[in-house]
Amino acid sequence: DSKINKADAELQKLISEKRIKDDDDKKVASEVFDDKTLKTLYKLANQNYLDILNGAISTGKEANVLKGIKDDGSIIAVKIYRITTSDFKKMHYYIDGDPRFNVKSTNKRQLIKAWVNKEYRNLNRLYENGVNVPKPIVALDNVLLLEFIGNDQGEPAKTARYDPPEDPTDFYERLLLEMDRFINKSNLIHGDLSTFNIMNFNQNPVIIDVSQSVVRDHPIAKELLLRDIKNISTEFNKLGVQTSESKIKDYLNLK
Ligand code: ADP
Repeated sequence: DSKINKADAELQKLISEKRIKDDDDKKVASEVFDDKTLKTLYKLANQNYLDILNGAISTGKEANVLKGIKDDGSIIAVKIYRITTSDFKKMHYYIDGDPRFNVKSTNKRQLIKAWVNKEYRNLNRLYENGVNVPKPIVALDNVLLLEFIGNDQGEPAKTARYDPPEDPTDFYERLLLEMDRFINKSNLIHGDLSTFNIMNFNQNPVIIDVSQSVVRDHPIAKELLLRDIKNISTEFNKLGVQTSESKIKDYLNLK
């Protein structure tokens, strides 16, 4: 009917040459934007969360992160989970024992929706406990809008993996503070902590990608925590920091 046609026309506008600049971005667009995703983006645009999509920041295994621009010119990050390439086994693994979610459904869209919701709620909880994470804005279906981590020129910060800290020990010490707030104050375990998921924002760590993060009493929490500590110890050792798994555990008051 005409409402849908109007929505479609608007969607086309949203992703037309005016809105998505170069060919590279257009490739991203056709790959991520199935009809339902387009409708979700349209809804967000309609609710003034988002005006223009302007460029890909990252094309990951399961999600694309794009730059979004709002009416007032401010920049946000737009994380879009692709329905086709999502790892549903992994999602079930992390979500099933979480008392906050009751995912009985095997419907893929429902599962992704719960997954994105989980990332949103984790970010919110972390943000409220003072952990350096991007502030979440809104989650809708397979789309998550969050604070853009980057400079005023719109260049995103890089992860510590690709932009190693100038003073690794200082950065590591700041990271320990974040981990303490993450684990002991927010009662969450990241589950995939490494320099791939820590951005280097003006030499300060910003922790990202918390979709798989679990509550501390989740049955797999302990195992994930030990793995996170091991990764951080190994990676920062390589950067020249005097650390070890037991030093990190001591700092975090873990047995
Ligand atoms: P994936 O699960 O696809 O790895 P991430 O959440 O790790 O998704 O994001 C992928 C990449 O996108 C990050 O490595 C980072 O470069 C970029 N990115 C993610 N969130 C933001 C953000 N809030 N601001 C700027 N860039 C971001």
